[in-house]
Amino acid sequence: MLLRLPLRGTQCLSRRRFTTLAIESSCDDTSVAILHTPHHSSTQASLCFHETITSANRATGGIHPILSLTSHRRHLAALVQRAVSALPAGVDKPDLIAVTRGPGMVSSLAVGLDMAKGLAVAWGRPLIGVNHMLAHALTPRLIERLGEGSGAEFPFLTLLVSGGHTMLLHSHALTEHTVIAGSIDIAVGDMVDKVARRILPPDVLEMQGEAVAYGKVLEEFCFPRGEEDWRYSPPGTTERKAENRTKHERWGGWKMVPPLQLHPRPDAFSFSGLGSALERYIDANPAIEVEETKELGREAMMMAFEHVADRAVATLKSPQAEGIKSLVISGGVASNRFLRYLIRRYLDQAGFEHVQLVCPPVKYCTDNAAMIAWAGLELWKAGWHTDLGVLPIRRWSLDNSVECEDPGERGPEQKGGVLGVSGWMKRDLTDFQ
Ligand code: AMP
Ligand code: ZN
Repeated sequence: MLLRLPLRGTQCLSRRRFTTLAIESSCDDTSVAILHTPHHSSTQASLCFHETITSANRATGGIHPILSLTSHRRHLAALVQRAVSALPAGVDKPDLIAVTRGPGMVSSLAVGLDMAKGLAVAWGRPLIGVNHMLAHALTPRLIERLGEGSGAEFPFLTLLVSGGHTMLLHSHALTEHTVIAGSIDIAVGDMVDKVARRILPPDVLEMQGEAVAYGKVLEEFCFPRGEEDWRYSPPGTTERKAENRTKHERWGGWKMVPPLQLHPRPDAFSFSGLGSALERYIDANPAIEVEETKELGREAMMMAFEHVADRAVATLKSPQAEGIKSLVISGGVASNRFLRYLIRRYLDQAGFEHVQLVCPPVKYCTDNAAMIAWAGLELWKAGWHTDLGVLPIRRWSLDNSVECEDPGERGPEQKGGVLGVSGWMKRDLTDFQ
């Protein structure tokens, strides 16, 4: 069990405020946050509570649905209780209850959703069911209001790189998004975790306790000196050509090349071939030294990250990129500092120095309830809230043209996307603004 992000009432605004309590439980993180914004402004925000507990995953070597469910059940009520006791004097209950409704593991989502419904009923407050991926995409807008980094104005591009998703998203407005590319097999975080389980020596894992942050540990293992170990030359440079030759000679053929070229579809990411290539290489070379496994880990990360960077650059070159000034990288894998460095270099090499790379602080990249609070608040301010009868949704694309699996009555606005699910209710906007 890993406890992250303790943050209590001292950073709260004291004047008249709008308070959002948010719950995230879509995967293996149970997270609760309380976000304050001044009532008549959205230019400032503060978090007066934000805690996350990650389910133990070491024994199972990764996310386990039943263990995650048990962990949510064990911890959520106590986290909510602590959040409520952190409400500042003068605020007896939140104004809005935001909760992740999907996509994610249905049983895990249900724990958070049922708790949120209970709180909404008990306090007589509106409920808002948030799309988890929307929350990742909007994270820079939260960070800007918290004064912790740069924001992103619509339209912008987002690379959502997490344990469950790899997606290149074009966000036109709060509820208007186009998914430009998605993974046709596993997510990049899944591949990173597989590589980590294969490469990390037992003694390194021993030190991690019950909840292993595989990606983070892999990064620390492969780049122990941080940026001093980031040797990277973008494709097309003379340095890169020389490096490719050396690697070719050293590894007796380019064993690590993933079959990405077999999937030249601009709307597809593919990572499973890369993970398997690495496993095959290690299987064929059992006496491999630790230093070489580090190199292999670096190589696998480089290839996976170039693959996502490549799709982003192709989009920026296309006519649909008109007006895009920012590329956001969000999701757990965006915590990787080498990924951030590589994408910046890749953009520059391709002539996109002017595109701002927006990277939220690491604590807001992995799953967290602060981003759910923010996305819920943006939707609420746009006039939306959610009926109490809604159910969790396993798959829920942000793309307006992709119909959702939700069996309920469709939203009034569009076929798919954020509003294309059942249970949305619209109110008269004069009551908030
Ligand atoms: P999320 O699903 O957004 O919570 O992200 C979790 C995924 O991010 C897992 O696959 C982690 O291994 C991965 N991850 C977290 N930190 C890092 C890191 N520093 N480098 C690479 N992957 C990471
Ligand atoms: Zn996530």
